[in-house]
Amino acid sequence: MKVVLATNNRAKLEELARLAASEPWLDLILAPEGFNPSETGDTFVENAKIKAREAARATGLMAVADDSGIVVEALNGKPGIHSSRYCPGTDADRRAKLLLDLSAVPDDRRQAAFVCAMVVCDPDGSMAFNAIRYWEGRIARQEKGSNGFGYDPIFFPTNKDMTAAEMSAEEKNRLSHRGQAWRQVLKFLKEQNHLLERA
Ligand code: IMP
Repeated sequence: MKVVLATNNRAKLEELARLAASEPWLDLILAPEGFNPSETGDTFVENAKIKAREAARATGLMAVADDSGIVVEALNGKPGIHSSRYCPGTDADRRAKLLLDLSAVPDDRRQAAFVCAMVVCDPDGSMAFNAIRYWEGRIARQEKGSNGFGYDPIFFPTNKDMTAAEMSAEEKNRLSHRGQAWRQVLKFLKEQNHLLERA
């Protein structure tokens, strides 16, 4: 079954395809070149819905989109849907800003969670499925580890004494918000594929 992933990011496609390696019926493809819908929603789910709808309409295929970020309790949920643009510059600049914003926050009030919303749209653009998954933890006082991306080096998952950036990709995928949401979406797509094959 051909499914378009609502992104131009080949690394994201490769990561999700690797996690679906045992699902040979799934043929994941990238959105058409220049695909860049404005993420004007107020929630992770709304933004994922916008991207999935656009990708479905542009290709006439079933589409999957994700939207993710980190929510920090002491900042009333910020940076949230604005995680990738919390401040101008690089991921390292954004981590530095988050550490600075939390510099006066004591260790027992540094709770945070990574969030991932994934939406599946039918070829006509209507939403067929959505999943939202959380990966809870707390924000460190300083960076540790060099794997992963984004806020990984300053995120301590609950019950782990290492940051997300010190984990192997396999371990992170097993626990992470994105890994969990993708497993739910894969289950849904598998059911759809069975239905199509039987029709
Ligand atoms: P999106 O590409 O619009 O979903 O933006 C997601 C942003 O949230 C990224 O640019 C990162 O800053 C942050 N983020 C989401 N998931 C992760 C993760 O697994 N590790 C680290 N940062 C993440």
